[in-house]
Amino acid sequence: MKSETIRKHVLKNAVLHDGKSQADAIIPKLLGEDPKLKSKIKSLMPEIEKIVKDVNKMKLEAQKKELLKLDKHALDKKEERNDLPPIKDIKEGECSFRLPPGPEKQLHVGHALTYLLNNYYAKRYKGKLILRFEDTNPETCRQEFVDGNKEDLKALGITWDKEYFLSDNMSEYYKLCDKMMKNGDVYSCNCNSEKMQEDRKKRKRCKCADKTVTENLRDWNKMKYGTYKEGECVIRLKGDMKNKNSVMWDPVMFRVNKTKHYRQGSKYSAWPMYDFTVAFEDAKITHVLRDANWTQRVELQDYIREKLSIKKHPVNVLYSRYQIEGGVTQGRVIRELVNTGVVTGYDDLRLATVKALLRRGILPEAMMELLKEVGITKSKTTIALEKLYTINRRLLDKRVNHYFFVEEPVLLVVNNPPVELSFNVPMNPYTDKTRTIKTNGLFYINKSDAKKGLIRLKHAYNVEIKKVEDKTITGEYVKEASIKNVPIIQWVPEKEFLEIKIIEALPLFNKKEEVQKDSLITHKGYAEKTVDFLPIGTQVQFERFAFCRKEADQWVLTHK
Ligand SMILES: [Zn+2]
Repeated sequence: MKSETIRKHVLKNAVLHDGKSQADAIIPKLLGEDPKLKSKIKSLMPEIEKIVKDVNKMKLEAQKKELLKLDKHALDKKEERNDLPPIKDIKEGECSFRLPPGPEKQLHVGHALTYLLNNYYAKRYKGKLILRFEDTNPETCRQEFVDGNKEDLKALGITWDKEYFLSDNMSEYYKLCDKMMKNGDVYSCNCNSEKMQEDRKKRKRCKCADKTVTENLRDWNKMKYGTYKEGECVIRLKGDMKNKNSVMWDPVMFRVNKTKHYRQGSKYSAWPMYDFTVAFEDAKITHVLRDANWTQRVELQDYIREKLSIKKHPVNVLYSRYQIEGGVTQGRVIRELVNTGVVTGYDDLRLATVKALLRRGILPEAMMELLKEVGITKSKTTIALEKLYTINRRLLDKRVNHYFFVEEPVLLVVNNPPVELSFNVPMNPYTDKTRTIKTNGLFYINKSDAKKGLIRLKHAYNVEIKKVEDKTITGEYVKEASIKNVPIIQWVPEKEFLEIKIIEALPLFNKKEEVQKDSLITHKGYAEKTVDFLPIGTQVQFERFAFCRKEADQWVLTHK
């Protein structure tokens, strides 16, 4: 790396910090420009330090002048990142988008991305965002998922203008069905599912379609008032048996289900199917972001709307739903893992649920950044969770404070320590904040760092380790000047430390797709006492260990 490049970064850092640059703050900038530098950074340190010293002697104005000479855009506001593509012909302030969770599961990262996308466009075009719970399956929908989904949406920073439940619209759906029946657009069918399947294979409509309106209405009433048992009768749309699109082959619109509904109780026996409710509800929305692999349903839903004399169809914005790699996202599998106790709950750190990811310390902004990076496309989009982690790590690096944590602590006794007993330790290379740590020559260090020879206690002083015993290490204080290229290690003062444990999640499944039993591991050690006063939810970087997030009685490892 050229001295000029280093000088540019040092000048910029100085200009942004009242004329004083810090060598520590330069390193991330240099690595940002050339990540391969990581192995050489030590050898560059003397040069960086020399430039810092030079630059810090200059007046602020002179620094600014030289910086702009080297790079005239150095102080420009950072350009906006590539944004998501615009939506054609959309009217600002006159559009609406939807969040349609089915409250039969907790949200996973795939949902989060889709919902963030809708939230993004609703805000970008000053439109309305509607939260509607698609809860017309009495067997699977639960209040706990309604609560959990809302909690997740809020935690993701999504705000909506209106919320409602499809199951509250049942009487309206019934009326719509009455209307279609009177128009001869639906019929009641008493065939069992095998017969229905056979007929569909032959592209043949069953005899039930020939019933009179009166006969149909009588069956429909028997479904609504619970005379029919489950499976005895369904309402089917008169679609198009000759259509190439199989969803048009007289799909079922209503079925009998007598399971007690979490919200409506036993009020209803006949329940509408997905396409029927969605066809009706989507007409209230102007723009539907839709998975390009599901376009065959568009034809059916448009057809249902026509039969209901609804003229307005939403605009379909087609994109490919995100396939997540490196995490389980099938609702059924997640539910089974939770129900069988393989994982500790929906927020188990090994899952890719929104709850688990947030708990682990993934920032909603990281998900949004990811969306902007992958963009929206109609071709299949696979996203490795690892990519999300990389973005998150980059965001955290700039905003979290640094603290010391030592795993497997051993006591280091320094003979003849210098008189000064407290050190100002920087919190983070991007800010000027520091904290003060008091020492008395007794330190806890990592067992793995306790080897004979010279070390530097980070932000404190140099020590020559003379004797290594099982629990205690003895060393001598060494004056500053003579030291170069020694391991710089983190430490915790013996005077004030806090015993903590940090939970790390390893992949839940191994390469053979078997559950790895010991995939939650616990790191134990001592941290600086001051972390005890940080609010729950705070994220920090424990230096030379990992990014971690604080919980009530433990910490969670976010990234190494
Ligand atoms: Zn039939």
